[in-house]
Amino acid sequence: MSDLRIGIGYDVHAFAAGRDLILGGVSIPHELGLAGHSDADALVHAVMDAIVGALREGDIGRLFPDTDPAYKGISSIELLSRVRALAEHRGFRVVDVDTVVVAEAPKLAPYREKMRDNIARALGIERDQVGVKATTTEGLGFEGRGEGVGAHAAVLLERVES
Ligand code: MG
Repeated sequence: MSDLRIGIGYDVHAFAAGRDLILGGVSIPHELGLAGHSDADALVHAVMDAIVGALREGDIGRLFPDTDPAYKGISSIELLSRVRALAEHRGFRVVDVDTVVVAEAPKLAPYREKMRDNIARALGIERDQVGVKATTTEGLGFEGRGEGVGAHAAVLLERVES
């Protein structure tokens, strides 16, 4: 059996008034935030789902149900550290992460390094092991219409014990 696992993750949250916009654990100034049970950090959710997928543990909705009051408003970076602990418990460590955030606005480039740092710290890895890119969709689709934010992630896990 391979000592390497890959996982992909995808998440979407809708923009909503009266909510903070948190992506990659960074609070970003914007007129709208993202709706959700937790802090609605779509980027971190995509990373978590990628890791959970690589572990073949289902999805983050199963691990952290949005019907559970324990997760209301919780920091997704905190949940990411729990997913890291799960990976380690299963005998795997995260060796690489790449991501794409899809949003028409706001511009995310000024926050990218901080997002990489936050994700890397929660996973116990270096900034160089975490990629964060951002793109628009040229006005097409729900992201292009400014209705929400999408995020994609790919991770590579390596078995540390057999
Ligand atoms: Mg989510």
